[in-house]
Parts: sequence; C-alpha cells; structure tokens
Amino acid sequence: MASTEPSRAESSGSILRVRDLVKNYPIMRGVVFKKQVGTVSAVDGVSFDLAPGQTLALVGESGCGKSTVGRLLVGLERPTSGSVVVDGVDLATLSPKQLLEKRRDIQIILQDPYTSLDPRMTVSSIIGEPFEIHPKSLPQGRTKRQAVAELMDRVGLNPEFLSRYPHQFSGGQRQRIGIARALALRPKIIVADEPVSALDVSIQAQVMNLLMDLRDDFGLSYVFISHDVSVVRQIADEIAVMYLGRVAELGSADQLIARPNHPYTQALLSAVPLPDPIVQRTRERITLGGDLPSPADPPAGCRFHTRCFKAQAICAAEQPVLRPVDGAHVAACHFPEPMYDLAGGGSAR
Ligand code: ADP
Repeated sequence: MASTEPSRAESSGSILRVRDLVKNYPIMRGVVFKKQVGTVSAVDGVSFDLAPGQTLALVGESGCGKSTVGRLLVGLERPTSGSVVVDGVDLATLSPKQLLEKRRDIQIILQDPYTSLDPRMTVSSIIGEPFEIHPKSLPQGRTKRQAVAELMDRVGLNPEFLSRYPHQFSGGQRQRIGIARALALRPKIIVADEPVSALDVSIQAQVMNLLMDLRDDFGLSYVFISHDVSVVRQIADEIAVMYLGRVAELGSADQLIARPNHPYTQALLSAVPLPDPIVQRTRERITLGGDLPSPADPPAGCRFHTRCFKAQAICAAEQPVLRPVDGAHVAACHFPEPMYDLAGGGSAR
C-alpha cells in the first residue's frame, strides 16, 4: 500500500487530509446463497492534503477510482481502511448523526444533472432540501423561499423559476441547480465529480467560470474530479494523477503539466488536444499499449507496468512509492524522468 506525506500543504494547515485511503468492493456470486468470489480494489492507498481556498484535481481515465474517492470524502461510503479528516475531524470517529452534521462542511456536485435531480421535485424543494435536514443552517432572518431565491440568483438562475421542475431547464441550468443545492449549507469544501463532462463545450466554460467565482467569493476548497486534463488545468492548483486506484503523480498543476515525471502522466498529457493545428499534428504522442487491467485482478508491483513503455523487471516485482522528483512534486515510478511541453506551454492558468 503506497503512502506519502503531503507534497505541499502542511497537515495542520489542511482543510482536508486524506491518508492511505483504501476501498475494496466484494464480488458476489449466486442468487440465493450469495458467496464472495473476489474483490475489486477500487482505491488502494490514496493520500493527499487540501489547503483552504485551493483546488486539488483528481485526474485519470475512467475506472481508476476517482468517484470512489469522492464518495469516501463526503461520507457516502465508508473506507475499507485509511482516514478522511475534514477540518480536523476524522470522519471514521463519528456516529451516523455526527456524520450527518459534519457533512454540512463537505458537499458533492455530481456529473449528470439529469439523473442526480429528482424529477418530481420543484427547484425550490431541491435547493431548499438541505434546510429541511439542517433547519438551523437557514441564514438568519430569511425564510426558506428567500434563501433559495438568493442561492438561485447567486448561481445565475432566475429566482422567478423556483416552482419549475428540472426538466424545464437546460443541462447547464440543471448543473447550476446542483451547485446551488451544494452551496446551501455554506460548506467549506466541495467535491465536484465530473461537473461539466455531460455539458456542451460552450456551456462547460460558463459552469467552470461560475465554480471559480464561487470558490473566490465563498473561500471554498475544491476536490475537482475529471478524466479531462484540459478541463482540470483551468481550475487546479494541485493535480493528483490516478491510475488503477493509486496516485501515480502529485504536485502543483504548473509543475506537473510542464514537467511530468511519471510515464502515465506523460501519456495522459500527450493526448491533450492543442489549439494550434500545426503543433497538434507534429507533436510527440505517447500511445499506451494494452487495455486498462481489471481492478479485480490488478498487476503486481507497479500497477502501470503492463502498459508502461519504460517497464523493467523491478516494476513487476516492487510497488514504487511516491517520492520527490524534479524538485517539489512526487511520483510513484522506479524510473522517473521529466518530459517537457507535452501539453503545450505548461499550465494554461
Ligand atoms: P472513476 O470515477 O475513475 O471512473 P470509479 O471510482 O467509478 O472510477 O470506479 C473504480 C472501480 O471500482 C471500477 O472498476 C468500478 O467498476 C469499481 N466500483 C465502483 N463502485 C463499485 C461498487 N459499488 N461495487 C463494485 N465495484 C465498484
């Protein structure tokens, strides 16, 4: 199990501290007599820190465990082992009632506004529901209706539409409804799980701008989950690249994009489309061989070795731990080596 100390934020200054997080799911067979026949290793030893007001992005291809980490962070699922410490409080030490209370501090926005909003509820009841669960969190002197109208206004929705239903809104507007609901309890941290992946590119930019404005206005910290490096680089202060349940590389967004050291990060970045068509046609592309192995039967040693262009015997035998590379960031690789300018001109921020 890989473990690492934080790359930047000191533990004491972190709003969120994650250590050696592991989540295994049992694979069950049988209809009447269910029997466990295996284990899916969805998350295997993930550690990171998030400083107040910062955005840490979890990036990696589908199935690498990003959403599972997101669900563990907000207490929707319990980890197999490891700890999630939100503003100094370890979630594992809380009773269900205390956990419900603590979840005010850390809210989640989900990818698909079509399925995450109840179609039978009005926008007013969707956004106002957190106030039903936590009545004391209604802003002073406001009725629920007033508080909902203010939230709608803040996320760019017309408050006159509070009696409408989700299907009467566009995809981008529905995502704004999800954002308003997540903001209702004035959280300190928002986990945004692929918040713009289901939206058209033009709408994506608007929602990204809204998220960045809200971060600055409310002093929010984000864990931003996405498979798309082009989206992540717009918002991230730090990036954790995940592969098959583990962190492959972690560091400041600028450094990691300008000088990736892990072969998997290098492959991810070399696939990012570049705006200049000539550069796009002529730049080096790193194509990975093989398919993503199953997390039910992950490769021994470095989980990436079966697809790695640098793999040697040690990679199949020994799991590399995260260690400092090239200055300030960390990579879990036996043969780290920087590559430059794979994604065009360092970070776009
Ligand atoms: P990502 O968000 O990066 O696409 P996920 O966290 O959704 O990845 O999934 C990681 C792995 O865990 C996948 O192989 C997925 O099939 C598996 N997984 C996720 N949730 C469950 C579950 N509830 N039961 C069994 N396997 C799961």
